[in-house]
Amino acid sequence: MSSSNWFTEAHEASGSSIGFRTRALLHSEQTPFQHIEIHDTTDWGRLMVIDGCVMLTGRDNFLYHEMMTHPALFTHARVKRAVIIGGGDCGTLREVLRHGEVEQVTQVDIDERVTRLSEQYFPELCESNDDPRAELRFEDGVRYMAECAADSVDLIIVDSTDPVGPAEGLFNADFYASCHKALRHGGLLVQQSESPLAHLDLIKSMRGAMRTAGFDALRTLPFPQPCYPTGWWSCTMARKGGDLSGFRERGAATKGFATRYYNADIHRAALALPEFMRQALGE
Ligand code: SAM
Repeated sequence: MSSSNWFTEAHEASGSSIGFRTRALLHSEQTPFQHIEIHDTTDWGRLMVIDGCVMLTGRDNFLYHEMMTHPALFTHARVKRAVIIGGGDCGTLREVLRHGEVEQVTQVDIDERVTRLSEQYFPELCESNDDPRAELRFEDGVRYMAECAADSVDLIIVDSTDPVGPAEGLFNADFYASCHKALRHGGLLVQQSESPLAHLDLIKSMRGAMRTAGFDALRTLPFPQPCYPTGWWSCTMARKGGDLSGFRERGAATKGFATRYYNADIHRAALALPEFMRQALGE
């Protein structure tokens, strides 16, 4: 198979690359915000790429979407109102809506085209978009959070692209301060926090900025993600009031919906940090 039949994302910072054998380029488009491509791959289903970076594949997105959502939802006593910043592919939205106690979820992605293309090429991720509890907005998440009413949200999930381009403003203390203000007491912020192997400095600076913004407790949960640089990823959870040492283990063990990666044992395991992370993050 010639190299022209592979999509490869070179990751300069770690001197490595991730590649997928492709059958066809199904769509390519420059939006006002970013360049989006959809490929058909031979073994990983469809592949979404934004500005040259892999966003998701049909085969492994369940790892990311389940870990961005269920640990937080089984940590909070009862999430009634959730906000997703980014997440335009709608996979995170679908997972949040599996929780019957959730009354309203607002998804705020800056680029409507990501959602429209996801509806077309990843319909399985969009199957809950018509749920009456879901609200889809297309605007800048930084501004949305800055204008969000105080003490009105239980869970904020930042499912964004990397901290360059439109997502740059989603990784600093001003943004986290807006999130902190919008959260009710005991509320949680979860953000995708890149690779523990390649982006430890970023994880440290995100956590520092979250602390500066007033968050009391922080946890970084690693999980496998083959399609992202180094194949290993993380999310960082921050809490306004309360701690993050435990979760609703019984609820997680008896959840009334199917998952493919998340379960109570995986949750417990994800709370254990490898030694190098423990030392770097001062836990
Ligand atoms: N799982 C992916 C990852 O970690 O690479 C992220 C997937 S999701 C497609 C990322 C979304 O963040 C994109 O749809 C992009 O439009 C959105 N985004 C980037 N900056 C944003 C901002 N400032 N406000 C709202 N959404 C933003």
